[in-house]
Amino acid sequence: MSADPAPPARVEVYDTTLRDGSQQEGLSLTVDDKIRVAEQLDHLGVHYIEGGWPGANPKDAEFFRRAAAGELTLARATLVAFGSTRKAGGRAESDPVLADMLEARTGVVCLVAKSAEWHVTETLRTSLTEAVDMVADSVGFLVAQGRRVFLDAEHFFDGYLDNPGFSSDVLRAAAEAGAEVLVLCDTNGGSLPFEVERVVGSVRDALGDSVALGCHFHNDSGCAVANSVMAVRMGVTHVQGCVNGYGERTGNADLTAVIPDLALKMKVTTIPPERLPLLTPVAHHIAEVVNIAPDPHQPFVGASAFAHKAGLHTSAIARQRAAYEHVDPDSVGNGTRFVVSEMSGRSTIALKAQQLGLSLDDAAMAAVVEQLKDLEHRGYHFEVADGSLELLMRAAAGWKQTFFALESHRVITELREDGTFVTEATVKVLVGDDRVIATAEGNGPVNALDAALRKAIGPVYPELAQVHLTDFKVRVLDTSRGTGAVTRVLIDSTDGERTWTTIGVSENVIEASWSALSDSVVYGLLHLEGAGKDRRE
Ligand SMILES: [Zn+2]
Repeated sequence: MSADPAPPARVEVYDTTLRDGSQQEGLSLTVDDKIRVAEQLDHLGVHYIEGGWPGANPKDAEFFRRAAAGELTLARATLVAFGSTRKAGGRAESDPVLADMLEARTGVVCLVAKSAEWHVTETLRTSLTEAVDMVADSVGFLVAQGRRVFLDAEHFFDGYLDNPGFSSDVLRAAAEAGAEVLVLCDTNGGSLPFEVERVVGSVRDALGDSVALGCHFHNDSGCAVANSVMAVRMGVTHVQGCVNGYGERTGNADLTAVIPDLALKMKVTTIPPERLPLLTPVAHHIAEVVNIAPDPHQPFVGASAFAHKAGLHTSAIARQRAAYEHVDPDSVGNGTRFVVSEMSGRSTIALKAQQLGLSLDDAAMAAVVEQLKDLEHRGYHFEVADGSLELLMRAAAGWKQTFFALESHRVITELREDGTFVTEATVKVLVGDDRVIATAEGNGPVNALDAALRKAIGPVYPELAQVHLTDFKVRVLDTSRGTGAVTRVLIDSTDGERTWTTIGVSENVIEASWSALSDSVVYGLLHLEGAGKDRRE
């Protein structure tokens, strides 16, 4: 192994959210979803987008058909079709999987090949010589058809540690047949960084600089990002992974961490540097499309990634953010957040007010601190409910929401003879001078109230269609205070780029729900550019 490896100046980013990422439990993408995710990835500036496996999945074949027909326009990224080598004993020219890959009409194809002895003899049940020929034939055929070919060497790390000779033969055969990148895959995801260092270093030394190396890590040992970073340090110039770390089991290498680690810490060029601040909004937008609530603790892009909860240290953090943050949050499109709780002193509230652009005088500041203490005593919890906290602070500064005024709401839940439950909500509101009454059904009280409120005010605020509730949590709080059971409702919402949480607390679950819901809608309207302006002028 070379003594002191120097990472490459530039690494190409290959996203496989649409194929490998969509293997995640609970993640199911329509063709329209796939097109929207691809547009976001292109916007972010990744080099390659793996669209799917056209031979294995009719939905993927349709995606490539519609993309080729002009439904997907990529400004930066190159679309890639995925598939496997020809069958053992068959011919590349007549192999149906290879034909499907060509049919996808992408400039680049990614060919997966078994590169571990055990998998050849036990799952493929063929000889090592034939396995190498399958790679050479398939790559040669696709290159002859005018395709750029990347080779995904499946189970490479495990295979190499077991029989390095065979695993290396597979790489050499692919390179000689014209493959442009040899991607070393940790398919079972169990590798550790020091093994990656050793294996990539020794492959690099054996192959020289004649062919580019890539890497593809799964996160089963919790090291997918670390392994990707290590592989680049050892000379890999092509990194595969998924946005938000989506994927089967424990997921793939999370590109939303790999990209900033390489770009900000190792000074390796990945996506165009001016696009790095798109990382957080794109990660959240894709989470919205795939309908999985974003993880607040996700490095770099999570809502808590730069959140500080430190009564004593808060003013120090405000003075010297760099001392408490590993990178500048703005560099990845995220932001510093000061977490407010009953433990917070006035300095935290003052910072929060400053962040929101509110001017609170001493009396208003003292009133907010008192109000927070009182509400937290009653079961409110503002550490997570940033949306409700902002509304409360704006109200303390004299602001009053004028989007709508509630007259009354009513929820009816009915058990029908056939055993089905139907929930119906009626909302009466004033919107400007108009009194509006709307009724809607839903699969539960929150859903029905949400539908009724949208029906009532939606015509005046069409931009509300961008706001969705993404999560809803109900918790019954400790009743030791002797006040009877109190219910706390938390609602997470998004407008596609911004996410916020609102809270409601009451002895009545419907009242708690309404309070969290109405805060969510008010917050959404407040932040949507120009919401309801015409109406209120
Ligand atoms: Zn994979």
